[in-house]
Amino acid sequence: LAEATALVDELVGDQAGAWDSAGALPEPVLRKLGAAGLLCAQVPARHGGRGLTSLANGELTAHAGSRDSSLRSVMTSQGMAAWAIQRLGSAPQRATWLPALARGERLAAVGFSEPGAGSDLSTMDTRIAPDGDGVRLDGVKVWMTAAAYADVLVVFGRYGDGGAAALVPVDAPGVRVEPVPEPMGCRAAGHATVHLDGVRLPATALLGGPGQPLSLPVTIALAYGRMSVAWGCVGILRACLAAAAGHAATRTQFGRPLAEHQLVARHLAELYTAEQAATRACEHASRCWDAGSPESVTATVLAKYTASTHAAAGAATAVQVLASAGSQDGHVVARAYRDAKLMEIIEGSSEICQLIIARHAVASAA
Ligand code: FAD
Repeated sequence: LAEATALVDELVGDQAGAWDSAGALPEPVLRKLGAAGLLCAQVPARHGGRGLTSLANGELTAHAGSRDSSLRSVMTSQGMAAWAIQRLGSAPQRATWLPALARGERLAAVGFSEPGAGSDLSTMDTRIAPDGDGVRLDGVKVWMTAAAYADVLVVFGRYGDGGAAALVPVDAPGVRVEPVPEPMGCRAAGHATVHLDGVRLPATALLGGPGQPLSLPVTIALAYGRMSVAWGCVGILRACLAAAAGHAATRTQFGRPLAEHQLVARHLAELYTAEQAATRACEHASRCWDAGSPESVTATVLAKYTASTHAAAGAATAVQVLASAGSQDGHVVARAYRDAKLMEIIEGSSEICQLIIARHAVASAA
């Protein structure tokens, strides 16, 4: 892991703020991380990946998240696409796609959300329909992270009475990728609206067969996404804690370092507590994942909820501690403040996570 995090440090350097302002990650950085197997390091070795455990991949994800949430977002999309193919794909699909994704030869994005289907994905309207000896796709996907960099899109949609996903090359006729202008945070993550107009693909593009409910492939893919976002939020908290503690130790006001003023010390204690609580929740979820425990589903939602809410509050606290010193775009805490807020929205908003956790609580009490 040390060599992997060192490569992330080397490639990101001090450029995350500039990439954020420019709204784009340099493609060579993505390709180099991909070639090192780090964009989706949990892909098993038998499929050409690094085969990291969820716990080890989580620590790598947190490290990337501490340096650059846009880059971490691209890792989340790549990993989610690979996980969807690993779980839903046939043996030939796994053999074709997983090594290419694991080595970054192909970059991927994942599309669930639509103009009319956000939290309620059961209202998804994208159609995947049989068309001769292939399939045809029609629909619109919104806010697809990493779509601006992707070679292939994992698109979820209705298929007959149920649901499926399709592997859609971005250069297929009928695909139009339209970048989201000026997103509030994770500005270099390549978010895009994707229009699919009569996209014809061979039957081998279909992941999952007829007859499965739409919720099944969606839930499988989201599980990876939630875990990855949760660990990314741990990274945001670590970056904020380091910046706030460092500043409070050295900046003097009223004749002593900020950290010695009790109200500032409380901010630091809260940030430290947030980072620890988020880390422990993520570690628990990853251990459940690695053990194949049925508890994994709830533990992952709990980790995503805990880490994202702490990251949003923690980033605001860090900006408060740095005050004017952290109030410029490009500063690590200013970026974290914008990025972390979005983490409370994606992969199941805080409210949707609360509903899932509450259902679990009620069922556990019964
Ligand atoms: P809505 O569903 O309209 O919800 C609006 C508000 O109402 C939210 O606060 C929500 O929590 C609340 N709400 C909704 N229903 C309920 C309920 N039953 N009870 C209580 N509260 C409720 N999508 C993809 O498919 N792929 C991606 O890669 C991707 N990346 C994203 C990256 C970013 C930065 C962002 C901002 C979004 C991304 N999305 C992506 C879309 C994301 O998944 C949706 O924004 C999210 O699911 C919420 O949907 P919505 O924005 O339509 O909000």
